[in-house]
Amino acid sequence: MNPSENDLDQAITTAAAELKKANRVAILTGAGVSAESGVPTFRASDGLWEGHHIEDVASPDGFRRDPKLVWDFYNARRANLAKVKPNPGHFALAKLEERFGDHFALITQNVDGLHQLAGSINVLEIHGSIHRTRCTGCRRIQHHELEPFAELPECEKCGAMLRPDIVWFHEALPQGIWQEATAAAALCDVMLVVGTSAVVHPAASLVPIARRGHIADDKEGSTIIEINLAKTEASEFADIGLYGKSGEVLPRLVEILNEPDA
Ligand code: NAD
Ligand code: ZN
Repeated sequence: MNPSENDLDQAITTAAAELKKANRVAILTGAGVSAESGVPTFRASDGLWEGHHIEDVASPDGFRRDPKLVWDFYNARRANLAKVKPNPGHFALAKLEERFGDHFALITQNVDGLHQLAGSINVLEIHGSIHRTRCTGCRRIQHHELEPFAELPECEKCGAMLRPDIVWFHEALPQGIWQEATAAAALCDVMLVVGTSAVVHPAASLVPIARRGHIADDKEGSTIIEINLAKTEASEFADIGLYGKSGEVLPRLVEILNEPDA
């Protein structure tokens, strides 16, 4: 075993000990947790997203200008998602929820629905879901199978165009879900920050919120555990860094946590 693997093993053991002490746990996940399922992450560095300018395919202005381009992009993502499955990282998080029950919240920036497919129950989708549409007229929300739409989808009730029920750039987050997410962050004893570059706000601000704790309740800040391939904008808040693939690190962490005490 090389020294860095040894370090990672030690850090996983330390992280498991923190989780063992915890009463409330919150998780923040990003695109990285789905990478090993074959879902492309977001390429902020070159300003392109699967070959498109982000503003063209993921903003309200882009949709107004060219709804067909936006729907072509989302239909392609939906077709890809219909083929992928949760990976061991998703399953490990579902197992973690079994241990903490009501005292567990999984806050995700992902829109792919893979956490729920893996069995996670309390999932707060702060950026919406690619499995749903929202009517641009009457705002009705509907679930859909992931088959691509042959035509631009329209509302059966009011005839207006449907859009993906996804939070785009320049849009506000769904208020109720965001409130639940900030409460879960402020009240948790341990937060796992998994597979997110922590550059998209306000999602990324959940990490400093957890770190600060809950002033009104006189609750101390949480222990932050980061799981990522490499350090990120969130690393300055992290007490423990587990740098490796989430599909490998998370199952090891949950296995050690669930070992009976010696
Ligand atoms: P991001 O693409 O900006 O960052 C991905 C992070 O995951 C990086 O820090 C990378 O180092 C890490 N990573 C990659 N593979 C990993 C692995 N196997 N194990 C652990 N870490 C790994 O993603 P983001 O921070 O979630 O921000 C992207 C935005 O785009 C979000 O707002 C999200 O809504 C959206 N998005 C969603 C999906 C999805 O639903 N699966 C995919 C792409 C983008
Ligand atoms: Zn409608």
